Amino acid sequence: MDYIYHNPLPLRHPSQLCSVFVHTFVLGGKGLRVTTAMSVQVVSAKMAEADLQASSSKELKAVPPGMPKSEEKKVLKNEPKAAAATSPVGPSTEVIAKGDPSHSPTPSPDLPKMQASAMRRTDGRQNGESLLNSDGTVAEAPKTKKIQFADQKQEFNKRPTKIGRRSLSRSISQSSTDSYSSDSSDDETSPRDKQQKNSKGSADFCIKNIKQADFGRREIEIAEQEMPALTALRKRAQGEKPLAGAKVVGCTHITAQTAVLMETLSALGAQCRWAACNIYSTQNEVAAALAEAGISVFAWKGESEDDFWWCIDRCVNLEGWQPNMILDDGGDLTHWIYKKYPNMFKKIKGIVEESVTGVHRLYQLSKAGKLCVPAMNVNDSVTKQKFDNLYCCRESILDGLKRTTDVMFGGKQVLVCGYGEVGKGCTAALKAMGAVVYVTEIDPICALQACMDGFRLVKLNEVIRQVDIVITCTGNKNVVVREYLDRMKSGCIVCNMGHSNTEIDVASLRTPELTWERVRSQVDHVIWPDGKRIVLLAEGRLLNLSCSTVPTFVLSITATTQALALIELFNAPEGRYKQDVYLLPKKMDEYVASLHLPAFDAHLTELSDEQAKYLGLNKNGPFKPNYYRY
Ligand code: NAD
Repeated sequence: MDYIYHNPLPLRHPSQLCSVFVHTFVLGGKGLRVTTAMSVQVVSAKMAEADLQASSSKELKAVPPGMPKSEEKKVLKNEPKAAAATSPVGPSTEVIAKGDPSHSPTPSPDLPKMQASAMRRTDGRQNGESLLNSDGTVAEAPKTKKIQFADQKQEFNKRPTKIGRRSLSRSISQSSTDSYSSDSSDDETSPRDKQQKNSKGSADFCIKNIKQADFGRREIEIAEQEMPALTALRKRAQGEKPLAGAKVVGCTHITAQTAVLMETLSALGAQCRWAACNIYSTQNEVAAALAEAGISVFAWKGESEDDFWWCIDRCVNLEGWQPNMILDDGGDLTHWIYKKYPNMFKKIKGIVEESVTGVHRLYQLSKAGKLCVPAMNVNDSVTKQKFDNLYCCRESILDGLKRTTDVMFGGKQVLVCGYGEVGKGCTAALKAMGAVVYVTEIDPICALQACMDGFRLVKLNEVIRQVDIVITCTGNKNVVVREYLDRMKSGCIVCNMGHSNTEIDVASLRTPELTWERVRSQVDHVIWPDGKRIVLLAEGRLLNLSCSTVPTFVLSITATTQALALIELFNAPEGRYKQDVYLLPKKMDEYVASLHLPAFDAHLTELSDEQAKYLGLNKNGPFKPNYYRY
């Protein structure tokens, strides 16, 4: 069956990696076969070799006997689903194969001796966007921000455009800034025009107000309580610094949760410079706390487009400092370096990308032969897609709706478009609140799942006149168009949980006969000539990230995956990774999950030798074949 086995070493390296990681951080380099509290076993390189053989044979066995060879090949390729779905050119088999972690070359035998061997994301943060146009063709990559890439913009405006207050989305952090009376929201001076220093005299940052640092520190401390794996990583790395020498330039949402990630990277030895991947989502007080702690942050809530690129540039373009690692969410930072400072890639060891948009760009670069460093696709990790998309939305959909509308859910008729991970999360939460939930789907498999979960599968036009709330979660475009908006009943709430603001045709509502009334932050009433009004939330943008908070614990899982990917790429011996896009191996996903189990006082069952043999598994995992869908 050699021919079906795409690469004989798909999980070898990760197996060693986790082992080495635990070895280094838990046992200070002394232990062998010691089970940690998280049930991760320390194994020597030799044992890792045995793991490899076991996992190899397991991979072979895992293909159903009757499966046609062509299918067998597919399932063994650990295909990056979202990226494949989103490529505007429709990624060729070759591209998919390139994203296959099994492309990892054989790890060097001295892997265990690696200096600090071992390891490290949504919208971004986060998202398995599907980019199909309504006509079935594949669309352009969605824009994470309502910003255009300023390719030629190297000179920045001296006087950046200010964003009107009314147009600011509530960020992830709105709840905290709401309660902070001294948030200098009245201070209209652009941070770019301010001279600020932290208490140690450093001015290498640009944020709203350094005086908010204490408040931001409290926010970060609260987030830390829900991010057990990152705090565990820090403790373990007290002696070893797996990121010593790493110069990480990052572009993510700047929130209490990502601050915990940044500070973890710093604790692991990295120097960090950071910009925001979204002009609205920065928690100003958190940025202040980071600047006070010595992390060079260039971000504030309500940046103009010009500010956005200026901040990224300030992170990258510093005399005497060159990044050697990129942590990106959306691909803008990577794109900027490609366009403006391509020579920097000579020193860059790798890119870690969280969002589907950024991943999509990486695959495009890879396909064009222009990707000049290895990249990790975190978006398609199980620990991202199956947690962030599902649980994050299950936990935040009600919050977003409540904060904006105070709606009661019991007995309300709700239409959810799309029954993927996000749709499943939203419908579960709404059903639990007693709402009557309808689902639309284009895919018969997801449609059948919806039916068997007890939801009525309908076409949009069948229920559009009667529903109280419409939520889009398809990653598609023009799902709710003017025709449907015209037919909704008065008071219907319309919102989107998908990545981009293409799902609801908001532009079609900007016609002279309709009146827009801003009734609250992020809440517009659109009024028809006969007095009918619909309640449009966040102007059709991602509801939870615009109008509510998102659960820290889920972000912890994604952030841990990002940290491990960064550590891995930074420490990988030359040649292990080529100029390609890689998925994190399943073993790493299992490790990230195991780090979060103690938070639930969860007790994982261990396989007996007999059971392991029966199932053809290594007792230390991986426990599922790559094609397992969870
Ligand atoms: P998914 O691919 O698992 O699910 C989308 C579903 O929509 C699919 O089952 C698809 O068949 C269906 N669909 C497509 N077009 C449709 C149409 N016209 N009508 C009805 N159904 C249709 O993707 P997902 O992981 O559920 O993500 C969906 C979107 O949510 C993406 O844009 C993603 O980026 C975003 N997302 C949001 C958050 C958040 O926090 N709000 C988190 C993660 C992902």
